[in-house]
Amino acid sequence: MSAPRLFNRLALIGVGLIGSSIAHAARAQGAVGSIVATARSAATRRRVAELGLADQVVETNTAAVEGADLVIVCIPVGACGAVAAEIGAHLTPGAIVSDVGSVKGAVLRDMAPHIPAGVHFVPAHPVAGTEHSGPDAGFAELFVNRWCILTPPPDADAAAVERLAAFWSLIGANVETMPAEHHDLVLGITSHLPHLIAYTIVGTADELAQVTRSEVLRFSAGGFRDFTRIAASDPTMWRDVFLANKDAVLEMLGRFSEDLSTLTRAIRRGDGDTLFDHFTRTRAIRRGIVEIGQDSPAPDFGRPHPGLPHEPLPRPYSAEE
Ligand code: NAP
Repeated sequence: MSAPRLFNRLALIGVGLIGSSIAHAARAQGAVGSIVATARSAATRRRVAELGLADQVVETNTAAVEGADLVIVCIPVGACGAVAAEIGAHLTPGAIVSDVGSVKGAVLRDMAPHIPAGVHFVPAHPVAGTEHSGPDAGFAELFVNRWCILTPPPDADAAAVERLAAFWSLIGANVETMPAEHHDLVLGITSHLPHLIAYTIVGTADELAQVTRSEVLRFSAGGFRDFTRIAASDPTMWRDVFLANKDAVLEMLGRFSEDLSTLTRAIRRGDGDTLFDHFTRTRAIRRGIVEIGQDSPAPDFGRPHPGLPHEPLPRPYSAEE
């Protein structure tokens, strides 16, 4: 039995990791009749056409949204307001406009004023990604068993929210709905702060005088390597995330600094009990993540290990990535 076609024409504005993954997944599931795509640069538009990611690649954002009943803006959050202003007058009545930005309060604030009456605005954030960018980076399974959080404004049309939820479900995601401010707080601790820590520690290691850069690289499997993967994420995207989610990130950073001071004091005083109790609690959180299927229990060596008696890690964690 073939899957239901949920939308006739999907317009993708921005075709990087997330936009191209949506294109792959929507095609694979037959979720839309056709896909029209555009990107800021001619080079990306050309690559999107070469990869055959869309039925039609157009030069402007306004041309992309003409006749589309689903428009998904897949660009850095700092650029969403300007794009909404550009496309507002060209949207089709009854269409759903959404985005995939990692911050929701700022996107709602910047985009909503430009969406005309009769067009439904339902912001979204697929909590799925890799450290890779651009149209070549996408794959159809990116959203499978990952969460997509919808943050509809309080007066959003319930049927439109349901239609968008059905789209994300069809391409593999579990869908959750919450207010934008709550989303920003949750993601502040689960995503934004970890990225800030990774960016910091990799920078700190790079600036050490007593330890050479080649030593840092050679002995990275001691823990550093895992931070470098996160710290390789797109600089533009993450600059925009921290600027757009300033309040929540500062709140979480304050709590983090207090906890770091506690552990610092425990190390200085030789207080092993405090360290042990803390590490025991955090280990349980890791086990919880594995139990609910958000990561694999297999050891991650960061390289192929064919002799191991376990299933290959699911993408995006597989060694071939
Ligand atoms: P990406 O791979 O870097 O692609 C970004 C796309 O946006 C490209 O098509 C780029 O066009 C376009 N773009 C960049 N700046 C723009 C501007 N000022 N105006 C118009 N278009 C612009 O990024 P991505 O990883 O797909 O991220 C896209 C969005 O998804 C971001 O809002 C991010 O917060 C969110 N998100 C990312 C992840 C992740 O792990 N990467 C996960 C969840 C959500 P050109 O190539 O022509 O420059």
